[in-house]
Amino acid sequence: MPQQSIRPFWKNFIGGRWVEGARGRRIALEDPATAEPLAEIARAEVEDADRAVQAARHAFDADVLRAIKPERRAAMLFRIADALEALAEQIGQAECLDNGKRISDARAQAGESARYFRYYGGIADKLEGRSIPLGEAYVDYTMHEPYGVSAQVVPWNYPLQLAVRSVSCALAAGNTVVVKSPVLCPLSVCLLGEACQRAEVPDGAVNILCGSGAEVGTALVAHPGVDHVVFTGSVPTGRAILRLAAERVIPSVMELGGKSAGVVYPDADLDAVADDVITGAFSNAGQLCSILARLIVHRRIFKDLSARLVERIAKLSVGPGIEDHDVTPLISAAQRDKVEAFCRRAEAAGACRVVGGRPAPDLPGHFFLPSVYADVSPEMEIAKEEIFGPVLCLLRFETPEEAVALANGTDYGLVAGVYTRDLNLAHWTARQLVAGQVFVNQWFAGGVETPFGGTRRSGFGREKGQEAMLNYVQTKNVAIRLTDRQIRR
Ligand code: NAD
Repeated sequence: MPQQSIRPFWKNFIGGRWVEGARGRRIALEDPATAEPLAEIARAEVEDADRAVQAARHAFDADVLRAIKPERRAAMLFRIADALEALAEQIGQAECLDNGKRISDARAQAGESARYFRYYGGIADKLEGRSIPLGEAYVDYTMHEPYGVSAQVVPWNYPLQLAVRSVSCALAAGNTVVVKSPVLCPLSVCLLGEACQRAEVPDGAVNILCGSGAEVGTALVAHPGVDHVVFTGSVPTGRAILRLAAERVIPSVMELGGKSAGVVYPDADLDAVADDVITGAFSNAGQLCSILARLIVHRRIFKDLSARLVERIAKLSVGPGIEDHDVTPLISAAQRDKVEAFCRRAEAAGACRVVGGRPAPDLPGHFFLPSVYADVSPEMEIAKEEIFGPVLCLLRFETPEEAVALANGTDYGLVAGVYTRDLNLAHWTARQLVAGQVFVNQWFAGGVETPFGGTRRSGFGREKGQEAMLNYVQTKNVAIRLTDRQIRR
């Protein structure tokens, strides 16, 4: 196995300095591929959340970002992008070892993250307002103002990319931020702090804390110095955060879970579909909000496509991310047990286990076999609830209307997909699907430029694309009555 190279101890980043937690406690991190200790990080406490918000508040009130020329903010974002790219190897090692993802994917996170800063750096100096005609006695215009201090709570599945998705927008608009990183895998988010230091981001403009969600996350969101919340994570935590935000009447963006479906029409290119489904369903061991969880397949091609999937799954390698295996471990023993319990209940309910459904034997970490269930009916738990593991359900349909009803038959609405060569059918289906983003013929098509976010229980607000900027600014209107004597009306 390639040698790991991770610093043994990491700290929180507050007010431009690397600091221990207020009570000197530490969080032990584990390598999910080996279940062995990996490193430690200073455990942020409620007092640290307070210090971080105060640092961000001070930076915002001191106008270190809001009042400078937007082109200087843009240049700062470009410098962060450069610094992230320079840290690519460290980011790759960190996110591969504490999260478990494949090293090629973990290394790519640095480039993806840099891309966010370049994209929103490009928008920072184009946040233009409007001039509104009110007759010659008035001048009226709008401008976009930052909210102030943005608290951002991040989950563990793509920690760096999900942190920068929000941090880049927030900074581009002139907000300052406090990020609460996930306790299971915070290291790549720490490296964002290092990138900000290298890029000479003003002290306090970006603060990063690793601590318990229930304690530090709650303290952060409830803090009177916070003006805006971005939450990416599960529905129950989203609800808890929404209650806190409602209490304080502050705006929030909610990027929550999913149970996304792909519809396969009989005219689709089945080899291409099978290849794409493997990526859509088993990337990051299925630990992705936008994972392809349900494949809704036309009756006529059901057997054929199932066979092609099984053939491909048999060729997938299961093993540590550092060796760049296809299927990497789940984040923790608890997550693996949760996924297995879903599979056992599905079998008890009558779902047919085609492959997998069990932890991978003979491997020391938290590995789960890539799994497919057929004979899944829409009312089964496995067809309705988010599993967050490498488990794909297969359902059959006869008519396009039936396919759409099945696809829309959960409480979620994050992404969806359609596979067909018929453009009219693809477009009709895309319009019917309840989702924030629809992929046609390629799961995960799109990028930083394309708006992403949920409907229904998957949340609200959009990240990515130009739309995301609207979450990080509020519009001010200035209405001026002119007093010149020449004005008659
Ligand atoms: P989670 O809700 O358990 O935790 C997310 C974050 O919230 C963590 O940092 C956690 O420490 C913190 N937290 C927990 N309780 C809190 C509280 N009471 N107050 C404040 N913060 C609290 O989610 P998770 O298990 O880390 O992540 C998996 C979930 O995230 C899945 O449901 C997945 O679909 C979702 N997700 C959504 C997106 C998206 O963009 N829509 C992206 C990735 C993951």
